[in-house]
Amino acid sequence: MPTLTGTSAPSLPPGFSYQSDRLTIEGIALDTLAAQYGTPLFVYSRAAMLDALAAYQRGLQGREHLICYAMKANSNLAILQTLVQAGCGLDIVSRGELERALAVGVEPTRIIFSGVGKTRAEMRHALEVGIGCFNVESTAELDVLDAVAQSMGLRAPVSVRVNPNVDAKTHPYISTGLKDNKFGIAHEDVLATYRHAASCAGLRVVGIDCHIGSQITDIDPYLDALDRMLDLVSAIEAAGVPLEHLDLGGGLGINYQGETPPAADELWQRLLEKLDARGYGQRRLVIEPGRSLVGNAGVCLTEVLYLKPGEHKNFLIVDAAMNDLPRPAMYQAFHQIVPLSPRQALPPTTWDVVGPVCESGDWLGRDRRLAVQAGDVLAVMSAGAYCMSMASNYNTRGRAAEVLVDGNHATLIRSRETAADQFRNEMLISAT
Ligand SMILES: *Cc1c(COP(=O)(O)O)cnc(C)c1O
Repeated sequence: MPTLTGTSAPSLPPGFSYQSDRLTIEGIALDTLAAQYGTPLFVYSRAAMLDALAAYQRGLQGREHLICYAMKANSNLAILQTLVQAGCGLDIVSRGELERALAVGVEPTRIIFSGVGKTRAEMRHALEVGIGCFNVESTAELDVLDAVAQSMGLRAPVSVRVNPNVDAKTHPYISTGLKDNKFGIAHEDVLATYRHAASCAGLRVVGIDCHIGSQITDIDPYLDALDRMLDLVSAIEAAGVPLEHLDLGGGLGINYQGETPPAADELWQRLLEKLDARGYGQRRLVIEPGRSLVGNAGVCLTEVLYLKPGEHKNFLIVDAAMNDLPRPAMYQAFHQIVPLSPRQALPPTTWDVVGPVCESGDWLGRDRRLAVQAGDVLAVMSAGAYCMSMASNYNTRGRAAEVLVDGNHATLIRSRETAADQFRNEMLISAT
């Protein structure tokens, strides 16, 4: 586990390094971006995202496949554009995400619609634009989709999300493949669901999917889920319902704190061995990675506002907060926190790094050894996924700006939100 002291260099995600004592990504020192755009500021590396994608592309080379980036991890349009231009389709979970997908010009048949609570209006819109597949999560949803499609004179392409009841061995809030989770259809009910789907005039069965959780760091849960899914595939096809594609979901973890998830190409080598061994190696494959494409490619830069030493705890108060970086408050998640310019002359002290929000849950890191002064800028590492996309306006804090780095070029891809942006849709009541 990397621990930061004033002297020893922390291990950083790929692409990030200290050059002449300045934290750098690709060709750019992050302190120049903090000075230019202000803090809190999210900075993403295009090369780091494309490298992460390349590992999947290598792993699936020679197989018919579609990598649908799960945009809820980070849905900035420029990031979607980057991944779509590099060959990705998109996995969406709402009407809003569908609008983002269309705004970046992805081919609609390369869109997959996931989620347990699609509304009729969302179904109608997705059918109008002609998305590639609805990943359906209950029989009730299947029946509504059938009715909506029939009312439009269409057949909705569907896949049933299997809940394989395997333990992804991750945080309970991000585990989704156990029978007590709200996701998917219990594997013992899946065959009957497919028989039913195949009989619906408004549905066209195209595939089968599962997604067992997030931040998965072992290969075994994937292999177990695949085995269970293939058992179902053979039963479903024996019942006369052919499946064009197999969708293994997303969920591959990243290194936040010394975790050692398999590389995407290594994971896929193992999964393809099993697919080949069971005779499904030539089937069209779909995957839905989110975190593993963008998580380690981003950082959040934040300025130290105040040092507040105490009897039992020392607090480092920074200008980013739980509204910008919700993962620690939500999941007790760990993000490495490092200075942009280490102070070799100062002795490190143990700090709780906290934000300005009026909640004790507003912390970004606990018991961190840091040598810092007010005015220094810190980088919260591995902040590319499930940070900005989960950001809120709590305390009427404007959401941070975002910058994309490509080589030695930086582009603003989202401007800092103003107070006026935040209350644009609110009305004063008229005086009586
Ligand atoms: C969130 C989600 C993903 C992406 O998960 P990651 O852990 O970010 O890879 C993929 N598929 C579905 C259905 C999801 O809900």
